[in-house]
Amino acid sequence: MNRKLYGTLVFELSKKGRRGFSMPPHAAALGLDAIPAELRRDDVPVLPEVDEPTVVRHYTNMSTNNFGVDTGFYPLGSCTMKYNPKINEEMAGHPAFSSLHPMQPDSTVQGALHLYWQLQRMLSEIGGMAEFTLNPYAGAHGELTGLMVIRAYHEQRGDLRRTKVIVPDSAHGTNPASAAVAGLSVVEVKSLPDGTVDVDALRPLLDDTVAAMMMTNPNTLGIFERNIPEIARMVHEVGALLYYDGANLNPLIGKARPGDMGFDVMHVNLHKSFSTPHGGGGPGAGPVGVRAGLEHLLPNPRVVRKDDGSFAVTECHTALGRVSGTLGNFAVLQRALAYLLMLGRDGLANVGPLATLNANYIKEALRDLYLLPVEGVCKHEFVFDGLRDKTCGVTTLHVAKRLLDYGYHAPTIYFPLLFHESLMIEPTETESPETIDGFIAAMREIAQDATARPQFVKDAPYETPMAHADDTEAALHPKVTYFDI
Ligand SMILES: *Cc1c(COP(=O)(O)O)cnc(C)c1O
Repeated sequence: MNRKLYGTLVFELSKKGRRGFSMPPHAAALGLDAIPAELRRDDVPVLPEVDEPTVVRHYTNMSTNNFGVDTGFYPLGSCTMKYNPKINEEMAGHPAFSSLHPMQPDSTVQGALHLYWQLQRMLSEIGGMAEFTLNPYAGAHGELTGLMVIRAYHEQRGDLRRTKVIVPDSAHGTNPASAAVAGLSVVEVKSLPDGTVDVDALRPLLDDTVAAMMMTNPNTLGIFERNIPEIARMVHEVGALLYYDGANLNPLIGKARPGDMGFDVMHVNLHKSFSTPHGGGGPGAGPVGVRAGLEHLLPNPRVVRKDDGSFAVTECHTALGRVSGTLGNFAVLQRALAYLLMLGRDGLANVGPLATLNANYIKEALRDLYLLPVEGVCKHEFVFDGLRDKTCGVTTLHVAKRLLDYGYHAPTIYFPLLFHESLMIEPTETESPETIDGFIAAMREIAQDATARPQFVKDAPYETPMAHADDTEAALHPKVTYFDI
């Protein structure tokens, strides 16, 4: 009851004159007199006036209204809500790292540079690439960096006519966005009914004005793109490069390498494939790998191992410059290395098969009630096109809201854009059979309710602190401060 009380019913707790702090008797003790008169203001609005227990309870109760990987099953498709071993947090918070300053002399941060270098080497091995930079802050940032590498490659060869990037219609929205930010124009290539890129539709799009083709494999439908070797040959034949969006690397780790499939440049989303709890936009890291012959174009600064075995931060004059302040999102890099070392080669090679098994198990257990637009064995995720019963009027949004009542985070909805009622499910590899079966039972009950009593499903959720937020109003007029300004 308290939860609801503080979560929704009572938000304005301020009472005039109430205090949650005590000031020293003399303002001078705080040094306030030292603030020059012209920088002081008298018109500051009154902050909420509350006592200490009220403040503590307010925030503590609000924090219990959150949903996270530590509170329940989180089958958010495309986002790979990974297993996040708690030892990662211990490593990332270790004062030996967290108290370092990014500008310290190399000789005083050898351990941190070693970590960075070791992760570069491991990702190169996993991706089948020659070299990696760990500087980009996210997958989208990695895409931009990778496309800048590709542009620089063509420009340095004097090949200045290449202005286009080919992107499949199933691609994540960041692909065309990154291409546009990199100053390139986007050409879309269609997918076949089986969800893979239509090679015949691709052929006429390829010529010497194409800088690159971007692909995700398995793609956003969770389907493995079998024609990659042929696509790679076609793309290379016209002098363009093949870019791998590594957001879906998870099912391939330790099993197949983008470099071996013919990709030239790739990014990985460390926060998806190599742990780090992410949500609400961060934190992340989007390291970029390149095949041999492109290493000199990676951004500055870099970490190298010198002949004497020590590590140094260097700048390369042929590089495309900087894409981030220093060496990237260091605590995310730490978590990734801790994860890699903890699982080891065999453990890593088990991740993809388990994620794939979980996804196919859920798909097969629900496909009599939910519409499966693309048949076949999926990898780590798959997409339903809403309920099979299209007469009941219950949409994907309603299903997602009703799932919250059962204590599950909703799957990704209305992405990919290929279908009207997309419901994209991606189960984490570490979920137990009991958790997966519980989710399936909930999804089945919702589908049966949708037919038997549709209004009941449409009015959900019933158990959450807030029932129906006005999404449009929240987006148009967000209230981001305590005061109305
Ligand atoms: C998540 C995702 C991205 C973007 O990665 P961010 O780290 O969120 O910037 C790109 N492509 C695909 C397929 C993704 O799932």
